[in-house]
Formats: sequence, C-alpha cells, structure tokens
Amino acid sequence: MSAEEPKQEAQESGAWGGGEAAPKPDAEPLREIITPSNKEVIVIAEQVEGQIQPVTLELLGAGRDLADKLGGQLSCVLLGHQLEQAAQTLIQYGAEIVYLADSPELKAYRTLPYKRVITDLLKTFDPPPHILLLGSTTTGRDLAPRIAAFFKTGLTADCTELDIGPYEHTNKADPDKLGLYPGCLYAIRPSFGESLKARILGPWNNPQMATTRPGVMLPLKPDPNRQGEIRHTPVNLLPEDYRLEVLEIVREVQSGVSIADADVVVAGGYGLGGAEGFNVLRELASCFENSAVGASRKVVDAGWIPYSNQVGQTGKTVRPKIYIACGISGAIQHRVGMNKSGLIIAINKDPDAPIFQVAHHGIVGDVFQVVPELIRQLKAAQPVAGASSSEKSLV
Ligand SMILES: Cc1cc2nc3c(=O)[nH]c(=O)nc-3n(C[C@H](O)[C@H](O)[C@H](O)COP(=O)(O)OP(=O)(O)OC[C@H]3O[C@@H](n4cnc5c(N)ncnc54)[C@H](O)[C@@H]3O)c2cc1C
Repeated sequence: MSAEEPKQEAQESGAWGGGEAAPKPDAEPLREIITPSNKEVIVIAEQVEGQIQPVTLELLGAGRDLADKLGGQLSCVLLGHQLEQAAQTLIQYGAEIVYLADSPELKAYRTLPYKRVITDLLKTFDPPPHILLLGSTTTGRDLAPRIAAFFKTGLTADCTELDIGPYEHTNKADPDKLGLYPGCLYAIRPSFGESLKARILGPWNNPQMATTRPGVMLPLKPDPNRQGEIRHTPVNLLPEDYRLEVLEIVREVQSGVSIADADVVVAGGYGLGGAEGFNVLRELASCFENSAVGASRKVVDAGWIPYSNQVGQTGKTVRPKIYIACGISGAIQHRVGMNKSGLIIAINKDPDAPIFQVAHHGIVGDVFQVVPELIRQLKAAQPVAGASSSEKSLV
C-alpha cells in the first residue's frame, strides 16, 4: 500500500480509466502489470428489515462511476430474508446484477453467517472482482476486514472519494512488483487530521477494497425502467457460524427527524455552556421544516445531548441544505462530518475559530444574542411559495 499527496493527480482517462502514464524523459518504460480481475465492481448492500440503507445507494452511485471508468459491470450482494423488492430497488439505483442470498438465517445481521455467504460467493469468481465496496457503518466496519483478511487483500477504511487511475511502482527494493499498474482503485481519505488527503492504493491483489462514510457519495436518480438480473446465491452455513444467536432486537426510539435526513441542521457546541443552552437551538430548528439539532462530540461526551445527534468523524456525516453551527470551534473531526453541507452559517464569538474556514456566512458574536435575534427575524419573515419561508430568508 502507498499513500500519496493529492497533488499527484490521476492521469487522463483511458481504457482502464487512468490511460497511459506520462513517459519520463530518461526513465525506462515500465512493464504493464494487470492483476487478474473481471473488472466487476461489487457493492455489499445493507438492509434493515428489508429497507435498503442510504449508504448502499450512495455506494451504487460511486460504483457506477468506477465501473464506467473500468469498462466493467456494477453488481450488488444482498443478504437477508424475503428481499425480492429490495433487490429491485438496487437495480433501480444502478446495479446490473444483484446476487441475492435469501434465508431466514440471514434475517438479522450476524458477522459469521454473513461473512460465510459473501466469501463463499466471491470465491466462485474466477478471476476475482476488481473492486469491493462497503459502507463505513457498524456492519460494514465489522464485515469488511474479515472479507479482506479472507482474500488476503488490502482495505482502505472511511474513504471520502473514490477514483480509478494508474500506479507506477518504481521502488527497486521490490523487483517483483516493479511496473505500471493500470486501473487501480484510488481510495481517497483525509489523514493527519485532514491536513492531507491520502490516496491509498493496493494494486497487488483483487478485489481492491474500500469502505466509504455514509452521506459522502451521491446516489443515482432511481430509474424504474432500469433492467437488471437477480441471481440467487446458495446459503450453506456451518455449525461454527452459529456462535451468536439474536434473542431480541431493541430499537432506540428517536423522536423527530434524524440529523442524517434533515434539510436543516442547527448544531451546538461547548460554547452553549450546558444542556439548557440547546433550548434556544431547538427553537431555532423549529423555524424550519424537516430540521434537526446536531452537536459536537464535546457536548455529547459531556452528556448534554445523545450520541445520535453527534456530527463528525466519530458521529454522523451530514449534508443538509443548511447547517448552522453555534458555539462550535470547528475542529477537523467535526468539519469532516458537515463540510459538504449546502450552506454553512457559523456563529462564534472567536473570529479566529476554524469553523469560519468552511462557513459560507460567519457571524462573530455571542450565540445567546445572535440566535434569539435570528429566531425573531425568521418568525417575522413572510411565507414564500415553493419553500419554507425560513429557508428562503436565510438563503
Ligand atoms: C479521534 C477523535 C475523534 C473525534 N470525533 C469528533 C466528532 O465526531 N465530532 C466532533 O464534533 N468532535 C470530534 N472530536 C473532538 C474534536 O477534536 C473537538 O474536541 C470538538 O469538536 C470540540 O467541540 P466544540 O467545538 O463544541 O468545543 P470547543 O472546542 O471547546 O469550542 C467551543 C467554541 O465555542 C465558542 N464559544 C464559547 N462561548 C460562546 C458563545 N457564548 N457564543 C458563541 N461562541 C462561543 C468558542 O469560541 C469555541 O470556538 C474528535 C476528537 C478525536 C481525537
């Protein structure tokens, strides 16, 4: 594996997406090394009670782009019980083939049965698929390393971008590997606290694997006319796969809209001074339709608000139309979770707070003066046809 700075961009697109590497004046031409693969890009789908999870649709959007650059096919692996309808949803979102493993044993996610079925399926591919993608969710993080270890292949976790391009291995200490590898997966993710974007490549083995953060990639528009094939996959579990039994599923009851689905997120940080400081943010959020209150990790750790509201590296990635950050310094680990929002408004009394680096509009001031005034003005705003009056007033 190698990590490179983003400045070294992928070269122009060609047969394998990366095209020919630019020749260096005095360098000997590198021999081309193509690791065997069927150019297939496979997404491991996630479903909960038959509902395909958003991260899977996002991965299909990213996977479509990779498959087109490779000149390959986009497929999906779906495990669970009674999922014909869910398989059709995957086709509408871009999958050409859905490998469907349908069994009551797979109804709820369990590590060992899921790993068994997926690895049993993938080892029948000769040559192996080129790329395998999973979500950076609890399930994806559990499953991906086990699949990677089974196939002795590399895995890059928590990617924010994916691409295809060539890789030149010129390290003479590795004579076996010297050469030009076309069509590599560029798994791109922030590193060193987001001061660098690392482009991580593992061209030696296929499938090349990555997980991506939920909320980062864009799904395709669903097309009910899109045609695809559902291939039923055998489920042969062994006694050692039954080490865990699901006795009961207890759901956390969440009132209101999730921050991941909200059009407007009003987020609070340690500058709010305590749990009661969030009351004014709830009032601000109530001025918008489909809104939710988010938070920094520091306030979640302080117990002011539940973890389900946390935005950032170890919380949720959000991409609302409007993100209002109140009393949040804007640490890198927070920014990676919200910096793709449509319109970012930051309120902070410190003019040098890093949150202003990503804000489209910044208000330097005390949150307890600015927010009540904002609420007053939003409530006074006249309704505008076609959008909530509050959204229009801010935009
Ligand atoms: C591995 C790792 C993972 C992490 N994951 C996350 C994550 O997922 N999400 C996350 O958020 N953080 C995460 N963090 C923590 C992160 O580094 C910061 O510590 C955290 O985001 C800071 O929270 P904050 O901005 O609320 O608090 P602070 O950094 O204390 O900032 C408070 C801000 O409020 C301002 N302020 C104070 N009073 C007022 C007022 N009255 N009006 C206006 N402004 C005011 C201050 O000027 C300051 O900028 C992680 C850290 C690590 C090491």
